[in-house]
Amino acid sequence: MTTSVANKGTGRPDFSLEVAGAKSRAGVHLTATQQLCDFAVVFTDAVAHPYLIPWVQDRLAATTMAHIYDVDTGVATPFTVPAGYNLIMIMKDWNTDQRCELLLYFDTLLVAGEGMSEAWENWYWNGVTTYDIAMLDPDFTTAHTVDLQITNLAANPLSGAFHFSAILEAMNTPPFPVVKTTGCPYCGHTQEEPVSTANVICRKCSKPYVVMARRKKNA
Ligand SMILES: [Zn+2]
Repeated sequence: MTTSVANKGTGRPDFSLEVAGAKSRAGVHLTATQQLCDFAVVFTDAVAHPYLIPWVQDRLAATTMAHIYDVDTGVATPFTVPAGYNLIMIMKDWNTDQRCELLLYFDTLLVAGEGMSEAWENWYWNGVTTYDIAMLDPDFTTAHTVDLQITNLAANPLSGAFHFSAILEAMNTPPFPVVKTTGCPYCGHTQEEPVSTANVICRKCSKPYVVMARRKKNA
């Protein structure tokens, strides 16, 4: 028996989803040498502090500066970019109920004003070309620190949420590390965990806390 099947395709791969992805977020398709680094902090009085999510903090006091957190470790910036790696900022978004300023430092050098907000503003920005370690060290010969600081410029405590995404990229270097150092939001104890770990039990105070595992993909 012979069955006729209608020819519906063009003979070419369907890239429609790729095109849609590239439109919404340039650079989201990571290569084997890249992984995501997410940085966040939430200032809120909606829960009791300290809280099991390390980057969920109490409201930011008036005229006070705070550092953003590495969500994979629960440790506040400065974040160390190892020798041989680049860190490329790709996305930032935040909301705030107070006037505030966001500053980006590489190796304690102020390199960018990431934002200046009036109260009750929401920001979202998805960069194509942006700040990276190559501006300081084109050959990635030494480690560098990246620090994101948020300052409440108002006379009242600040509630809000701040989130930055970056790509950590190996530049002719060994594979990504398989362990990370996490920080306890209750007692400050730091300990080594596999990069794929999200639920941590503090080995000092025995309390549980939660971090993300964005870096497990290439580990
Ligand atoms: Zn602890």
